[in-house]
Amino acid sequence: MSAIVTKFGGTSLADAEKFKQVAEIIKADPDRRYVVVSAPGKRFKGDFKITDMFYLCYEKAVSGENIDVLFDEISGRYREIISELGLSISVDRELDRIRNGMYNMTGRDYAASRGEYLNAIILSAYLGYDFIDAREVVFFNNDGSFNAEYTNDVMSARLKRHERAVFPGFYGAMPNGTIKTFSRGGSDITGSIVARAANARLYENWTDVSGFLMADPRIVDNPKVINTITYRELRELSYMGATVLHEDSIFPVQIAGIPINIKNTDRPEDRGTMIVAETPDYDTKNVITGIAGRKGFTAINISKDLMNVEVGFGRKVLGVLEKKNISFEHLPSGIDTMSVIVKSAEISGKLDYVLNGIQQEVCPDSISVEDDIALIAVVGRAMVKSKGTAAKVFKAIAEANINVKMIDQGSDELNIIIGIEDKDFEIAQRAIYSEFIKD
Ligand code: ASP
Repeated sequence: MSAIVTKFGGTSLADAEKFKQVAEIIKADPDRRYVVVSAPGKRFKGDFKITDMFYLCYEKAVSGENIDVLFDEISGRYREIISELGLSISVDRELDRIRNGMYNMTGRDYAASRGEYLNAIILSAYLGYDFIDAREVVFFNNDGSFNAEYTNDVMSARLKRHERAVFPGFYGAMPNGTIKTFSRGGSDITGSIVARAANARLYENWTDVSGFLMADPRIVDNPKVINTITYRELRELSYMGATVLHEDSIFPVQIAGIPINIKNTDRPEDRGTMIVAETPDYDTKNVITGIAGRKGFTAINISKDLMNVEVGFGRKVLGVLEKKNISFEHLPSGIDTMSVIVKSAEISGKLDYVLNGIQQEVCPDSISVEDDIALIAVVGRAMVKSKGTAAKVFKAIAEANINVKMIDQGSDELNIIIGIEDKDFEIAQRAIYSEFIKD
């Protein structure tokens, strides 16, 4: 029987009612054998996520403040879930251990990870599934990077011994056994890791929206849901700031070619978004799959006559950035000009060093800096098959009276990226969306 791995986000497990909904979904398909959980999320507007409460608790403990009130609040949420589910288990021993861990400075990651840990214990008891602690099956290297192959070996061997199991998402173990978390939202990655190890036929990611939207709903009114998107398109959109799924969660399933289905826990009948390796489906009518963008970039514009014949020019410029451990995002160039686009936050405090370094290395005719640049990516696998996509993007931008500062099209024709001023960010996305999506 080929397994389905399901991952439920924090809002899907915020209280006992949600646990019941989740259990119903899991039980509706016997193939849903492996379940990954987040920590309880917000139950209502203004509520707190358990993970944030654990972070706060740890900070208080470190600064010597009393954590009793906050810790009791956290404990209360778990106890309430257990009692409303009518379970006979108790997590009191675990809670005591965690409280001591806070005082003994067991680590910020340890504290944050306990939200998922407790939730997985409770859900496994409620479902009658085994509990597998992520610290025994998810591993990091000494430098903090994820140890994908060792994890996959250990995890797949372990899964053979468990017909059905629940895993806490978000964390794993360092070589010395201490707990380390992925970055925020990292339970999505755990789900993907389990899916790969189980050689699952599907990774279902259950959340509070009916799929991936074509644009940010805070910017574009009522954007359409994307029916099918490829891993690579998704990566482009996630990188550019589209949320829903953690951007690193694609890698484990991509290796195994397992599709991801984004589903809505409140509306399980909705199809959601399918994320696949490849698809013969091209939306030749709308052409684009989605739009996403990010603010907060800085452009360093360098010009020098005959730059084009100066061998090693680009390498020398990038070498200066490398010395300060700054990665670049884009590198649009002309014959005698070159711009380096970097995240403003990454270059902050290092700009003078970088400008002086470039001056010394390549002696440019001029060098200038532009802040407050926003990048917008228009992504679509159908672009390769259709003509006039770029023209439509620029028509929309021109009609909205927006000045384009940079243009970049990936060599695979999967995206067009434009750089504009931060202040035009929202208008530009609305203009592009309505240029492509007509009904
Ligand atoms: N609970 C963690 C967070 O809030 C991880 C997750 O939910 O995926 O970031």
